[in-house]
This record gives sequence, structure tokens and C-alpha cells, in this order.
Amino acid sequence: MNTEAQSNQAQSNEAKQEVSTVSRRGFLGMGSAVLAAAGVLSAVDAAGQEQKAYPTKDDRSSSAPGPGNPAIDGQNPDSFLPPQTDAGGVQTFKYPFGISHKRMQEGGWSREVTVREMAVSKTIAGVDMRLTAGGVRELHWHTAAEWSIMLYGNARITAVDLEGKSFVADVTEGELWYFPPGIPHSIQGLNPDGAEFLLVFDDGNFSEYETVLLTDWMAHTPHDVLSANFGVSQQAMEKMPRREKFIFQAAVPGSLADDQKVAAGGRGISSQDFAFRTGQMPVTKRTKGGEVRIVDSSKFKVSTTIAAAIVTVHPGGIRELHWHPNADEWQYFMSGKGRMTVFATGGRARTMDFEAGDVGYIQKTLPHYVQNTGDTDLKFLEMFKSNVYQDLALSEWLTHTPPELVLAHLGIDNATLDAIPRDEVVVMPK
Ligand code: MN
Ligand code: MN
Repeated sequence: MNTEAQSNQAQSNEAKQEVSTVSRRGFLGMGSAVLAAAGVLSAVDAAGQEQKAYPTKDDRSSSAPGPGNPAIDGQNPDSFLPPQTDAGGVQTFKYPFGISHKRMQEGGWSREVTVREMAVSKTIAGVDMRLTAGGVRELHWHTAAEWSIMLYGNARITAVDLEGKSFVADVTEGELWYFPPGIPHSIQGLNPDGAEFLLVFDDGNFSEYETVLLTDWMAHTPHDVLSANFGVSQQAMEKMPRREKFIFQAAVPGSLADDQKVAAGGRGISSQDFAFRTGQMPVTKRTKGGEVRIVDSSKFKVSTTIAAAIVTVHPGGIRELHWHPNADEWQYFMSGKGRMTVFATGGRARTMDFEAGDVGYIQKTLPHYVQNTGDTDLKFLEMFKSNVYQDLALSEWLTHTPPELVLAHLGIDNATLDAIPRDEVVVMPK
């Protein structure tokens, strides 16, 4: 076990011990009535059902003496010992990019999390890609729309719009782009150290291996046809690659202005902006607990099939209990540590732990929260296959329903209901 895993394990031990500071083992042999009298067990709950003590981390009941992986267990304390409120079969909604196949090329690499990696993720797939300075993700397009956020460095993106007009722009960390289906585009790393970025596609079945690549297309078109098509000699085609390049190393491009000018030619540049400068947009909501930027087609005009929320939760904060009426949510964790419970109806709920590089997923309308369990900011993306961002919070539901009705459900008093925030806070505390 490495040091980090040990510290995770220690933190997890502490957390579990807070739940029950007394080890159950010390009470073996004592009757449940005695334990109830001692306040350790509630022998009977309000419905008259007998309650059993839930195992703590140190119980024989929760021990795992067989083979195991302490590093994985340390990163997933809520899977190793689920909270007592978890129950039933909820489809796995976590997949780390760290165990995806990495396609290595000269000039960079790519890896993907699709419905093939995580069965529940039917509406959105993601690709994590690295390009060196000069490294090119070759000219291509695909049937899905592509939304992207720059995770590191600098890149130049190019596209041609439906009028055949050119778009060339440079993007840096935190900035976005969006290319509709069938719009040809490319990405190239810039100085000093290229780029890494996350691509989000509005189809869980998408694959980076199944895009229309310029070199692949040319390699599968007879040269006499290319000769006739371009009105040039077949000889001029001799050095064309015989197979796809996908990612390859090239020279770092020159000035942006020059590239824009020569690509535009006599037609002028595209009137569409396929890039979005996130930093120039004000924070949508800021609280003591954190902040959120909501970027959908109302802000980022071309992004008509993908909406995003970029969320930061400070230590001790929680992305409040909520749900999304209009779409599944695909998540990417950028920094920090957190946990999420998805309540999946019919008494089923599951809690999983997340950290940088993990993908999460919640099906449309299912309730969830995301709690910061670390000591640094938790930053993650909420992505939706939709033109607009929509959510409803538990707090706003309860505070905009006749109070007597709510009280009759929950067994709480008026003062408690009054204290619940009436506006959607998004990240608590407000
Ligand atoms: Mn693409
Ligand atoms: Mn959500």
C-alpha cells in the first residue's frame, strides 16, 4: 500500500468511526435490550421494525480477509463499506480514465470512456487527448457533435462551416469549443508544451476509432479517381499515406493571424464562433460552499446539443441534492475528492467515490448530490445532451409546497422547514 492509499484508508477509518464510536465487537454477548438501553442500538424504529447495528470498519462483519487491492479500496471507501443508506443493485456509474486503453502515437495519445467501458453511459461519451507542441489530431469529422474543454496548455483549432468559410482559433486552459456533426476540424498543440483536453460527444456509442479521417479516406480512394477529382496528375499523389495518421507530429504552426488569413482566402472568415472564452463569462452562482458556471446554448450559441455546468465545491461543501428533468448527466472530475450517491428508485441507492480523471454518470431525473470529501477544492463538469441546462433542487421543492403537506411526510418541525433555503443554492453552504 502506498502512502497516499494509507492516508486514504486512515481518513476512511476515521469517517467510519465517527458513525459509531463504539466498536460493536466489544458488545458481543450482550442482549439487544441492554445495547438499546445503553443508547448504542435503537432496538425498534418508528415503524416497529427491529434495527440491527450496521457494521463498522473494524467489525468482523465488514472484514475482507481474502485477496484484495488496498490501493483501490482506499480510493473507494464507500464501496468498501457502503453507507447504511445504500441498498440494492444500482448500475455502476464510475469509470476512471486511468484504466482506459491509451492509443499511443508520435505526437500524442488518446483514450476514451464510452458505453462500452461504462454500460450506463448511453447518451454521452468522452475522450481525453494529449498533443505535443506541433502534434496534430488530424483533419476529420464524425456523426456526433463534439464539445471540448482545454485541461492544459495551448492548442490551435480549425474548422470549415456550412458555407465553406474558414474558422481558425487558439484556445488555452479552461476554454471550450464545439463542432457540430459533419463539420470538418483539426486540433494542434502549440508552444511551449502542447495541450491536453477533454472531448465530450453527444452519443454514448461514439468512438474515436470511427471518425472520418482525411488520410484514411484518401488511402481508400483510387489514385486515378483523386487525379480526376483534383485535375492533377496521379504522380502528384505518390507520397500520400497508405493508412490513417490519426495523431502525428508536425512543426508548431506560425502566427494565428497568418493562418486565419490564408485559410480564409477570398471568402472571408466564418461568422460562427466555434470557441468559447469561459474566463470572460461571469460566474452563474457563487456561495460560501463554491461556485458554478452554466454554459449552454444561451451563452455558447453554437453548442446546440450539449450543455455544461462547471462546478467548484470548496472543502466541507456539497453540490446540493437535486435532479435533472431533461437529460442524463455525464461527469468529469478535474480536481479534488468527492462522493456521490445516486438514488435509483425502489429503495435502491449507491454511493461511489470520485477523484481527478474519473467519469461519473446519472440517468435522467435520478436524485443525487456531490459532496467534497477532501481538503482541497473539488472541481468537476456536469455535461448534458441538451441545448439547455435544467435542474431542480430538493430544497426549492420542499419550500415551494404547502408546508403542512411537507411536515406530514417528513416528521420534521416547522422551525426545521423554515431553515431550509428557499432559493436554489446549488452549492451549500449558501
Ligand atoms: Mn473531432
Ligand atoms: Mn447533477
